[in-house]
Amino acid sequence: MSTDGKTPMFERVALVGIGLIGSSLARVIRREGLAREIVVSTRRAETLARARELGLGDAYEQDAGKAVEGADLVVVSVPVGSSGAVAQAIGPHLAPGAIVSDVGSVKADVVRQMAPHLPPHVHFVPAHPVAGTEHSGPDAGFAELFENKWCILTPPTGTDEAAVEKLLAFWRACGSKVETMTPEHHDLVLAITSHIPHLMAYNIVGTAADLEMVTASEVIKFSAGGFRDFTRIAASDPTMWRDVFLHNKEAVLEMLGRFIEDLFVLQRAIRFGDGDTLFEHFTETRAIRRGILDIGQDTAAPDFGRGPKKS
Ligand code: NAP
Repeated sequence: MSTDGKTPMFERVALVGIGLIGSSLARVIRREGLAREIVVSTRRAETLARARELGLGDAYEQDAGKAVEGADLVVVSVPVGSSGAVAQAIGPHLAPGAIVSDVGSVKADVVRQMAPHLPPHVHFVPAHPVAGTEHSGPDAGFAELFENKWCILTPPTGTDEAAVEKLLAFWRACGSKVETMTPEHHDLVLAITSHIPHLMAYNIVGTAADLEMVTASEVIKFSAGGFRDFTRIAASDPTMWRDVFLHNKEAVLEMLGRFIEDLFVLQRAIRFGDGDTLFEHFTETRAIRRGILDIGQDTAAPDFGRGPKKS
């Protein structure tokens, strides 16, 4: 197993779904020489044609079942609500010993959807690269997407250790740092670190758009006051995020409950002029930001490195 381009880690990788994540995988697999052959599959003919134009694979197949035939690694990169249907389509065609994985932002529900359709002769190792942008489709991907970002594997108990190790090595070769945990723990962690922040962004952008006492042009004009950063997150793919909330319902509701309670504490502090509570809270949150910068998960440049606009 090497990444020197001489001995690919996999003979044939089938990528089912070729949007932001699938196409980023295609690009990094090619760059690092991780597979002898990349088979690209996607639902719509126009997306497949675009993937072909971009040269993302060696073979192209609209039928997901056909695409996975003979593959020793299959990665499903579709909205989480479609995982079960895709697993059902590919299940009968999977080669013995193949590693089957996904990249879904929700894990417990995806495992519940996919596992019943996968034959016992394959190794199912679900994964979630915690890396992304607000863009979608095969044009949006880039080989560096996973660099220095975490990828979380959630192998079910009893999964073949060699298969887990191989997928771990694969994600490391894609530039990621890797951790394993249970699907349920993953879903709680991601509910607070990703899903609730997205819900907040969707909510605040929606509220601002509906305001009557502040005009839409004022909202846009003065967006650098903080609002602009929410609009980036709130521009994320509606299908993907609808599915995340529907399929991580329990963890999101649990974390949302905690969030709303804490929001009431801040509301109360503002109402009663309790500056100490606000100051302490804001001091603690600043330390979290410093922690993120310390581990290289964001830039410390002012204004997120946007810099002054050239006229
Ligand atoms: P994307 O750019 O929108 O691409 C989605 C892909 O899935 C396309 O190939 C699309 O095919 C296919 N697809 C859509 N609906 C489908 C259906 N009902 N049945 C079968 N295939 C379908 O999405 P993405 O951002 O790559 O996200 C893919 C997965 O990665 C999701 O599970 C998401 O939770 C996870 N993820 C996303 C991010 C992120 O920031 N975007 C980060 C980490 C993980 P057609 O175009 O042919 O219809």
